[in-house]
Amino acid sequence: MVKQYAVIGLGRFGTSLAGNLLQAGQEVLGVDVNEERVEDAQSAVTHAVIADSTDPEALKSIGIRNFDTVIVAIGNDIQASILTVLLLKEEGVKKVIAKALNKPHGQVLDKVGADWVIFPERDMGERVAHMLLSPNVLNF
Ligand code: ATP
Repeated sequence: MVKQYAVIGLGRFGTSLAGNLLQAGQEVLGVDVNEERVEDAQSAVTHAVIADSTDPEALKSIGIRNFDTVIVAIGNDIQASILTVLLLKEEGVKKVIAKALNKPHGQVLDKVGADWVIFPERDMGERVAHMLLSPNVLNF
């Protein structure tokens, strides 16, 4: 089934996530405040727009409430990440996934309504450890 995803923040994490969803046949809108990031991510998304996700009017004009899942892939600007999640939930987006830089950031994202908080470095560390310990991986 094809779902509509929006990825806010087209850094390495957001662009990789968007590209994988697109390759799996899903519809993906990419959003970034930075024009260059939007241009660089064109091939990883169905559509891309330049917008500031901390601006409620910008989110409304994108029609963000119509997306099944919105992923907030902003990390370094913690304030923008938190405010974006808050606004998305206020707009009525059902599933909001957000990337956290550290534990306190993740706790606040939880509090403002994120449905799933991802810690990319921690989660990847867990994955690699599992892969190394898997009986199918030899010679590491
Ligand atoms: P990554 O680690 O995924 O490569 P990064 O190091 O580029 O990310 P981040 O701070 O995580 O840095 O930013 C990810 C993207 O989010 C950037 O391209 C940035 O322009 C975008 N971004 C930051 N603030 C906003 C905002 N308010 N609205 C939309 N996009 C934003």
